[in-house]
This record gives sequence, C-alpha cells and structure tokens, in this order.
Amino acid sequence: MKLTILGCCGSYAAPGGACSGYLVRGGGVNLWIDAGPGTLANLQHHIELDEIDGIVLTHAHPDHWVDFLPFHNVVRYIKRRSGLPIWSPGRVRELAETVNGDLTHAVDWTVIDATSHVELGDLRLSFSRTDHGPETLAVRVDEAGGASLAYSADTGSDWSLTDLGPGIDAALMEATFPLEEEGEFQHLSGRQAGSLATDAGAGRLFLTHLQPGIDPRRQEADARTTYEGPVEAVTTNTTYEIGTT
Ligand SMILES: [Zn+2]
Ligand SMILES: [Zn+2]
Repeated sequence: MKLTILGCCGSYAAPGGACSGYLVRGGGVNLWIDAGPGTLANLQHHIELDEIDGIVLTHAHPDHWVDFLPFHNVVRYIKRRSGLPIWSPGRVRELAETVNGDLTHAVDWTVIDATSHVELGDLRLSFSRTDHGPETLAVRVDEAGGASLAYSADTGSDWSLTDLGPGIDAALMEATFPLEEEGEFQHLSGRQAGSLATDAGAGRLFLTHLQPGIDPRRQEADARTTYEGPVEAVTTNTTYEIGTT
C-alpha cells in the first residue's frame, strides 16, 4: 500500500502548500482521503482524475474537504462520470449540496459514522469518532493480506488511536501545535501524537496537519520524546510505502 501526501498544512496552507489530503493506492484501488484546498491540483501529479475509485472526507472543517467542490464539477461536467463512491459525516454532504446542488448525478454519497465499515476493492475501512468540534472520523485502512494505515484526521488528546484496533503498521497523526499550545484547541502537539501512537503500538509514525510557521523538525523531536519508533513529518507530493519498514 502506498501513501502519497497531497497536502499536510494544518488549518490553512503555507506559501506553495496545500491543506490535508492523502492518496492511498493499494488493494487494486485508488482512495482519496480528505480534499483540503490545493490537494486537487497536487493529485494530478500522481494520478489521472478519473482513476479515483472512492473518496473519504473526515469532517466538515474547510481545510479537509473544499477541493471536493471543484472535483465534483470535474466528475459531473467534464469526465461525465456517475456513481463515484464517497463517504463522510452528514454535515459535509449538507455543505457540499448547499454549494454544488444535487450531487446524485455524479457521486454515490454514503453518510457514515464511527460504527461504519466500508469495502473498496481489497481495502477495508473502519472509523473512530475523534476529539474534535464537528463530527470527525479517524480512518483505518487495511489492505487484504497486507498493510494497515491509521489516520487521525483532526483530534484533541481525549481520543485514543487504540479505538482503531491493534496491528497498525503506520499511524498518520495530526501534530498541529507546539508544546506550549497543548490543549488550547482540539488538536495535538508532536508529543501528544507520539503518545497516542505508542499506546496503540503503531509501527511507524508520520506527522501531518503541520501548522504553517512551526518547524517540522521540532514536531518530530517532540514526538520522539513519547514514541520510540521511526518518526517523520510528511512532505507534500512524497509517496511512502506502508508496511515495508
Ligand atoms: Zn484541520
Ligand atoms: Zn478540523
């Protein structure tokens, strides 16, 4: 399973950057998780737009989904495709319909919650409600007979990665804040991200949702105080092999 970073800026994009978005390739399918501003442009560095097999949007904050709006218009009016599967909490669908109108011509949208299970090709997806303002779903992706990736989406520290079960090869965790801002909002520091990854026994830790202006090396160093495995702050347009370290 391959994880490609389409954007990793937290809350807003740094110059030349993009907000949260991830392309997961494995199990015979291409899955797009979160569609923050800038990710649609970056997606095209890696894949043709009509090669997307499904989309997961984790929550209604704009830094995680608004590039779905132009993508929907590509699917409906340019590619003229129908039935593209998409999964999200209900609020994201409501907001998308408010802007783009009837979505049913192009996409097959299923509203999900923490109890949902999704299959796409040979990928199995499960979810967990995080500690974050709007309904927010962390996502676990398991490739049949292969690797396992867990993505925190956005969360505060009152959530546990263990909710997504054991055997996580790689944890993609938000690490928005420096230590001195811990607890100010429902986001994590590098130290807290490391602690959650340790509790879950994750094999590898990737840091994302990095707030512009904060040094990624500092976030890595803070994570290493609570997590002993490999730690890396991700970079946009980089592809990581999951389950081979
Ligand atoms: Zn966010
Ligand atoms: Zn958020």
